[in-house]
Order: sequence, then structure tokens, then C-alpha cells
Amino acid sequence: MSPEPDNPAFEEAITQAENLGQRREFEQARSVLLRAAKEQKQPDSATRLLQRALQFPGDSSGVWLAMGKVAHKQEQDAQALQHLKTGIWLAMKLNLTDRVQKGMQQIENLDTEVDTSWRQKTQDWLNEQKPTPAPQAIHLCDFCGQDKFAPGELFEGLRTTICPGCVHKLHLRLEKKQNSSD
Ligand SMILES: [Zn+2]
Repeated sequence: MSPEPDNPAFEEAITQAENLGQRREFEQARSVLLRAAKEQKQPDSATRLLQRALQFPGDSSGVWLAMGKVAHKQEQDAQALQHLKTGIWLAMKLNLTDRVQKGMQQIENLDTEVDTSWRQKTQDWLNEQKPTPAPQAIHLCDFCGQDKFAPGELFEGLRTTICPGCVHKLHLRLEKKQNSSD
């Protein structure tokens, strides 16, 4: 990579990242470059830092999202979309729901056509990641086993629940017993 002698922050980030890379501290190397890219005034310099960050092994989904941001700043939204899609795809593989969501938000700001089937597929994936709601309470009568009752229709005791039909049957039986004993 050709140096940028008038850009000390750029040079410093590259040197630091190279050193970290040699020590196989790829995650930190990536962070250094990402941070430096954010502070660059020239989008081209930011892109070069991010491209270097992409060469380190590991999770580069965040770098792709940053690439998308820079491309968007340069009004290259078609390219930004490709970067963001790549970042989102990687984030999905790593189950990084927040990052997928962030990438989708970035895509919403783009002035470019996004194919609906892709958008739907990503939204479906996001929906699947959401915790499933607690199952609805089952309104079940412990005596007859029927469960087609609306809430409030059953008489709920501490351990058992009885439906109006069973209360009625119980009532008839008690009545019968009472009559026969008379
Ligand atoms: Zn019942």
C-alpha cells in the first residue's frame, strides 16, 4: 500500500495495524483501522484503511458496513448497497442480529433500488432471531379436558380448574344424591 506522507493519522493507523497483525491480534488491528477510517476527512483515505482491514482474518462484517457508509458519502449508492449486502450476509452467518439491523438501516438511507425478495429474506431472518413470545396460557378444564374456553370462563382453583359444563354436571350429581337420600 502506498503511503500518505501528509496524513500522519493514516500512517500511524497502518503501522499500528501491521504490528498488531504480526502478533495475530487481528481483531484489534481491525478496530484501529476502523477507528482511523472514521476520522479521515478524505473518503479515499478512509476506503484504503478499510480495504487494509478487510485483509485481516476474522469477522469483517463491520468493515463492510463502514465501506458502505463511505461509498454513500461519495454518492456511490449502488456500490454502497453491494458493500452493505456483503456485510449483512457475513453478519447473518455469525448471527450478529444487531449488525444485520444496522446494515438494513443504512440501506434504507440509500438512493438506490433494493430488490424486494432480498429485503424480505433478510427481514424474515431478523424476525426469526427475535425471541419467540411466551406460549399463550391454555384454558383447560381439569375435569373434562376440554380447552376451548375463553379467559374468565373457567373457575380456577389453586391446583385445578373446572369449566361451567363440569360445574353443571357436578351440580346435577349432587342434586341426585341429595334426592335419593331423602
Ligand atoms: Zn369441564
